[in-house]
Amino acid sequence: MSLSQGRSYLAIPGPSVMPDQVLRAMQRAAPNIYAGELMEMMPGIITDLKTIAGTQFHCAPYIGNGHMVWDVALANVLAEGDHALCLATGRFGLLWADMADGLGIHVDIHDYGRRDPIDLDRLDAALRADSGHQIKAVLMTHVDTATGRKNDPAAVRAVLDAADHPALLMVDCIASLGCDEYRMDDWGADITIAACQKGLMTPPGMAFVFFNNRAQAARGRMTRVARHYDWQSRIEGGILANYFNGTPPTHLLYALRAALDLILTEGLDHVWTRHHVLARAIWAACDAWGQGGAMQLNIPDPAARSHAVTAARLNAPDGTRLRNWLEANTGVTLGIGLGMDTPEDPHSSAAFRFGHMGHINAQMVMGMLGSVDMGLKALSIAHGDGALEAASRICADHLKQG
Ligand SMILES: *Cc1c(COP(=O)(O)O)cnc(C)c1O
Repeated sequence: MSLSQGRSYLAIPGPSVMPDQVLRAMQRAAPNIYAGELMEMMPGIITDLKTIAGTQFHCAPYIGNGHMVWDVALANVLAEGDHALCLATGRFGLLWADMADGLGIHVDIHDYGRRDPIDLDRLDAALRADSGHQIKAVLMTHVDTATGRKNDPAAVRAVLDAADHPALLMVDCIASLGCDEYRMDDWGADITIAACQKGLMTPPGMAFVFFNNRAQAARGRMTRVARHYDWQSRIEGGILANYFNGTPPTHLLYALRAALDLILTEGLDHVWTRHHVLARAIWAACDAWGQGGAMQLNIPDPAARSHAVTAARLNAPDGTRLRNWLEANTGVTLGIGLGMDTPEDPHSSAAFRFGHMGHINAQMVMGMLGSVDMGLKALSIAHGDGALEAASRICADHLKQG
């Protein structure tokens, strides 16, 4: 008999847990979109999004998901036939490169596979070899959601600067914004993309392109940009139809407003620290389980791990068995392994992911880890002891510091 009745925890890397305040904010009649409260809210929403992204420049909102702004960001600065370089550290980097391919952009991919970091020397060599400055943009994910690897945009910017290369630096922060520390302007990203359903805790349907004046100048050099993709009209302000090139996502905007209030009331530094401590608790539990079994984190170096999503594995097919058991019996849903297939395990059934982004706290993470511990025992999957102790210790030590 299952023990899953009660409130569930969707511990997948997006969409994330939706706060009650966010859900309640959508319980309302259709608002006027031409005047009044919603229209007056919009400039503040943009300002707050820019604060969270760490930019003083521009934010263009779109109705759509992450794939939408993958396309949009590219289409504003790159034309068919242009060249770009993609630094891929997992499935999501490769998918962005594929979107570029769909737009007729020639993408050179530095594919670092499922575990390895970006090789800055290789990047440096590629940029220096491009003396004619054919490469118009370098694409990277801040956090790759499939592998859980976190990359360093500031380090990539430093290589671009040292090589005196004018390519735009475009960073996918869909999995990291509002979870991991990110400072667009300080770190030298020209374009940053995000979506509302991960760290921003809002039901899926809105996505954002942040861009600076260098990116804006590149947009100015484009002969043509599809009207609905064009970010120019979306930053002009005024009526809501300007921001969204048509009807705005009314109820999602109320939801987003509530989510931004939660983030900014807590304080961005506190939000980042909370994610870090809770991530460390999950990693400590996994390390302990791994002492007596096959549990293993995908990224060995803690400093290179996302604070929002953690990729792990057991022996095939135990990742899938564990996920299914948890959902059926405890109310916890873990994320599927993505792009972790091998010839022996074509469906990535060894792999799974913990989503720990957005509206999560210590009791949710401890409950989730306790449930995983139950699952390992119930399914007789070999594991080490002391995982919950280790996780509890991480949180307690942090809280003792005050
Ligand atoms: C979720 C995600 C995407 C894709 O977003 P969708 O809303 O599913 O289209 C792209 N990049 C990263 C890093 C993501 O985490």
